[in-house]
Amino acid sequence: MNQNGRSQSACVVGGGFTGLSAAWELIKAGIPVTLIESEDYLGGLAAGFVSSGSPIERFYHHWFTSDQHILKLVDELGLSDRLVAHNSNTGMYFAQSMFRLSRPADLLRFKPLPLADRFRLGLMVPRARSIRDWRSLESITAREWLLRMAGPNVYRVVWEPLLRGKFGDAADDVSAVWLWNKLCLRGGSRGKGGAEVLLYFSGGFATLIEALRRELEARGVQIATGCAAQGIEMSNGQATAVITSNGRIECGEVVITTALPIAADLLDGIIPSSEIAALRRIRYLANVCLVLELERSLSELYWINVNDPSFPFVGVIEHTNFEPSAAYGNRHIVYLSKYLPGSHPAYELSSSGYLEYALPHLKRMFPDFHEDAILDYHVWKAPYAQPVVERNYSSLVPNTRTSVRNVYLASMAQIYPEDRGTNYAVRGGRHVADAVKADRRVTAHYSQRAALA
Ligand SMILES: Cc1cc2nc3c(=O)[nH]c(=O)nc-3n(C[C@H](O)[C@H](O)[C@H](O)COP(=O)(O)OP(=O)(O)OC[C@H]3O[C@@H](n4cnc5c(N)ncnc54)[C@H](O)[C@@H]3O)c2cc1C
Repeated sequence: MNQNGRSQSACVVGGGFTGLSAAWELIKAGIPVTLIESEDYLGGLAAGFVSSGSPIERFYHHWFTSDQHILKLVDELGLSDRLVAHNSNTGMYFAQSMFRLSRPADLLRFKPLPLADRFRLGLMVPRARSIRDWRSLESITAREWLLRMAGPNVYRVVWEPLLRGKFGDAADDVSAVWLWNKLCLRGGSRGKGGAEVLLYFSGGFATLIEALRRELEARGVQIATGCAAQGIEMSNGQATAVITSNGRIECGEVVITTALPIAADLLDGIIPSSEIAALRRIRYLANVCLVLELERSLSELYWINVNDPSFPFVGVIEHTNFEPSAAYGNRHIVYLSKYLPGSHPAYELSSSGYLEYALPHLKRMFPDFHEDAILDYHVWKAPYAQPVVERNYSSLVPNTRTSVRNVYLASMAQIYPEDRGTNYAVRGGRHVADAVKADRRVTAHYSQRAALA
């Protein structure tokens, strides 16, 4: 309570799905909320842009049928009728050849591996799903686990290029738990006939984000975009306000949902240096997505893993082989995705420089492709796109509660044993809101007792 006896707002820093979900849970519980977002749009990594008159994600997005947390949010907003399910159609580019890998039968035709290894590859998902306790995998790397489970051929052809393509120099540090989770997810989102089924939000994730914004504002949440948190004001060991690029926001709690290095900057000098060091200990990869709007389709596949780490992209995701191109003025939308350290020179390339860097490789993959087919293109960059989930990651994950009683952390890097994703961002938002609600109940209880004493 402030001096006027009114309940103070919780200040949520960051307007991605974690921040939006935290705000949603808090306002539903009757706790006033101010949400600040440094960009001039909401949605964070899941934000969209307008392509041919239709909103679409800057970075490709879909959901798995098992993504219960975000599906519940969609349901609460009364928008479940906008969910669409499609078969995913995946493939792999390896040794200058394209292979379809959508159904179990495709595996049997996967020539780069001897027959026995094709079976070993096929058995990986059921074997991963039979592991009940992920803790048994915590102390080993993905590489060690893969070699043990599937042997050197499967590792060399399928997994090593993917791990190197995604994590670069950090590939050998990636935990078996990270891979286990990926295998379980993919195996758990299948329809009849064994094909993978994925979900999309008709109108794009931006339409969902906008609907959530409207609902939050209707319930009284103050949302400020283009408003960056720059510091936290303290009094008697508690946070009392967030200092922002637009002024000072008094608050009862601070809920930080940004990437951990940004949280560390905000909390430097406020929490002990060992806690700051723990926030900075977790490594992140950046991502660059080149989005092409094409006159013609590249292939019939939605998702192609590029198993050649020399390529400037690890995946070719033809979104319009998932959501029909009619939604985008019949343009074919293709994402070329690259993960890289934020310090990599390619991260600094201009949009046209990035296009030039990527096109010769795209032509190698699709000899019929000609750049005349490019109607437009966009390059999106995210400095904190993927935390590196190392061995024994559970010992690295920071707590939701910091050593300052009313400052909380909920970020993508705290999702574990699962990997990042909007589904878990929503769960993280709920979890941190639960902590705020519980702490408010305790404070109210003691204030009541003190008043009665
Ligand atoms: C290439 C790529 C593909 C992906 N594909 C999928 C997918 O298919 N399905 C899926 O579910 N998920 C996918 N994800 C993951 C998903 O986008 C994220 O897990 C999720 O959006 C993270 O939400 P968040 O709120 O935790 O973080 P963020 O989205 O990073 O939000 C944090 C917010 O904090 C803001 N911020 C930073 N500093 C400040 C400050 N000082 N003051 C105020 N605000 C600040 C940022 O601008 C940002 O909006 C993908 C991610 C990437 C990069």
